Amino acid sequence: MISHTNEKSGNIYYRPEQSHCPVCQSKLKRDHILRHKDLTFSTGVKRVISWAYVCPQAGCAGAAQTYRSHKAESVHLKHRRFSRELVVRIGYQCFWQHQTRDEVFIWLTQDLHVNISEREISNLVADFLALLKAAQPAKIRHKLGALTDLVIGVDGMQPEKGNDCLYIVRELQCQVTLLAVNLEESSQEALCAQVFEPLKSLAQELGLNWRGVVSDAQETLRLAVALSLKSVPHQACQSHCLRDAGKLTFEADRSTKKELKSTFRLALPRLRKRIQALPLADPFRSILLDYSGAIRSTLLEGGVAPFELGGIQVFDALEDLESSILRCQKKATTSCYAV
Ligand SMILES: [Zn+2]
Repeated sequence: MISHTNEKSGNIYYRPEQSHCPVCQSKLKRDHILRHKDLTFSTGVKRVISWAYVCPQAGCAGAAQTYRSHKAESVHLKHRRFSRELVVRIGYQCFWQHQTRDEVFIWLTQDLHVNISEREISNLVADFLALLKAAQPAKIRHKLGALTDLVIGVDGMQPEKGNDCLYIVRELQCQVTLLAVNLEESSQEALCAQVFEPLKSLAQELGLNWRGVVSDAQETLRLAVALSLKSVPHQACQSHCLRDAGKLTFEADRSTKKELKSTFRLALPRLRKRIQALPLADPFRSILLDYSGAIRSTLLEGGVAPFELGGIQVFDALEDLESSILRCQKKATTSCYAV
């Protein structure tokens, strides 16, 4: 056991993870308090006490060494009175639950009864981001550990013309983001120095070979890959190419979809009015209302270039509805309420 809580005082005591001296194998002995600190957890304030242990054999070569609990070091952040557990919970509320600072403040003070100010919450959010950033290299190394070679995808995004361009590099086999860098200019030199050189160092350090690069066909990017990663296969992103190739088809489909939708949008309210005017006891009333609802939701279908053609989807769905209503008509001599 490396930690225990005294129920009465609420103190948490930590002792080293190892119990015996690595030199003479004697059982380590408690010596002095290394650190005591009042820490705020989500469950309240607790005093964390970390004990230093030493080898009891005076003649042992390891007698001067003190042993401490690594876990005790990991529950807090330096110069902060809040536990790491609370920092992580605050980060989770902000970035996973999308809560505002005000909502987090109310949650902490009213639900958890934590004594904290809004300014302190902002500081802890910054701490959380620093922790995330610090953990990223370890995560990358862990994921890349299973690979022997790298296939990367490079994507440049420029929110507005004239602004900085954000380059994101992902390893495509294990889906991990290797690099995200903001470049003021997307020149070949800047791409080589700030995108490809750090990647080359990482690959070298981990002993990984290069298998390929996928990116859009931006000229400076092509030149930078050719210069930095000589003889590594470089392919233009197929999704970009296919989207360009399918542009005419997608545009034609979009205008068909628009036409279909506007025809039906005009007729639908008229149709619904006629159905709603039927007597409530009419057995076909609710069925026909369902059909009109189905037509309306069909018209909400979208489309994603290059392969998901919304116009064709809408057309197919309307045809299915038509044959379904015709079958209904055949079974019962329903009056015709077709558009
Ligand atoms: Zn010893």
